[in-house]
Amino acid sequence: MSVLAKAGAWSLCAAVRAAIPCLWKGKYFSSGKEPGENNPVTPMLRHLMYKIKSTGPITVAEYMKEVLTNPAKGYYVYRDMLGEEGDFITSPEISQIFGELLGIWFVSEWMATGQTAAFQLVELGPGRGTLAGDILRVFSQLGSVLKNCDISIHLVEVSQKLSEIQALTLTEEKVPLERSAGSPVYMKGVTKSGIPVSWYRDLQDVPKGYSFYLAHEFFDVLPVHKFQHDETRDHVEVCPDAGVIIQELSQRIALTGGAALVADYGHDGTKTDTFRGFCGHKLHDVLIAPGTADLTADVDFSYLRRMAQGRVASLGPIKQQTFLKNMGIDVRLKVLLGKSTEPSLRQQLLEGYDMLMNPKKMGERFNFFALLPHQRLHGRNPQTNAHQSKPSPSPVAGFSELVWQ
Ligand code: SAH
Repeated sequence: MSVLAKAGAWSLCAAVRAAIPCLWKGKYFSSGKEPGENNPVTPMLRHLMYKIKSTGPITVAEYMKEVLTNPAKGYYVYRDMLGEEGDFITSPEISQIFGELLGIWFVSEWMATGQTAAFQLVELGPGRGTLAGDILRVFSQLGSVLKNCDISIHLVEVSQKLSEIQALTLTEEKVPLERSAGSPVYMKGVTKSGIPVSWYRDLQDVPKGYSFYLAHEFFDVLPVHKFQHDETRDHVEVCPDAGVIIQELSQRIALTGGAALVADYGHDGTKTDTFRGFCGHKLHDVLIAPGTADLTADVDFSYLRRMAQGRVASLGPIKQQTFLKNMGIDVRLKVLLGKSTEPSLRQQLLEGYDMLMNPKKMGERFNFFALLPHQRLHGRNPQTNAHQSKPSPSPVAGFSELVWQ
């Protein structure tokens, strides 16, 4: 039986997710309020004014980096900005099905690549830990498949506040957390289901080894440089930090195996000015009250692909709607609806499905992109002789149509 076919056995988790606001972060407008209107002097604005007065002008990238992740005053560092009460909502916060299908993707890749004795699940920017929690529930439900596999969780997170929330979500503090503020591994714990979990500020510090990497709405918060020059587009946004991270992931995957799954809103090298802010589920001028709103720019997947080239193979970007359909979202929804009699829960499942899948909502704006070892796609290393090719490998789930076996 395929892993996907087992989906029917799962429980409906405590599925009371946030009511879904009408605006999500991926919706695109290039500007919000007019500058000058309601522009309070925030601690971040004061910090930036000092910085500019003492060392001169700063780039858009430096502005974005300071505003979002400055260790003392950064937007991400000390607050929970996700959900109904916060500034934006993300797919894992909308529906449990999203994380469950991603969990199946990792198990399916693990099965297709020889069922290694151990793997690390590494998530970049895990938010509230909801996505990792949903994936771990799938791993527990598929205990018979994964029973001899040694799994560990590694979270890359710069936010002190969000790391505390992640720890609470994943461990329920059943076993006390170990903290060590100065160390590259700044926190360690054990999840509800007994899996070791560690926190890092930087991907470089995560141990190398067979790993599955996950980045959901992570690349869009990395600082972009904006250029106006002699190109066909009047604005060009480039995110060097994304390039560095993709190169690191590619190197690791080429060396030790595994895969990376990136999901975000973005384009394939065609868009121009996408830098924007979000506050209280509304668009927000990026220069007003810095430090109080999220700043984001669409991910350029053509750039990510170029950064991976030569080391690993890439798949996508494909639309979220297509990826989730290929992963069996319709079947999963049916199973959950079949189990829930409560009208409000059924309503929430249907609204969540619509939000994730509707092309006018998140279905077409969000994309999935994967990095895989060359051998996974072609059955052989591109450097080896073409005559040595192995039998053709199984298709990668999500990126091709679902076939029931
Ligand atoms: N993946 C989550 C949260 C997305 S918000 C979800 O989809 O719900 C972006 C996340 O990235 C937050 O957890 C934020 O604290 C984290 N983050 C932002 N910049 C980061 C950086 N430079 N390094 C590591 N984490 C970062």
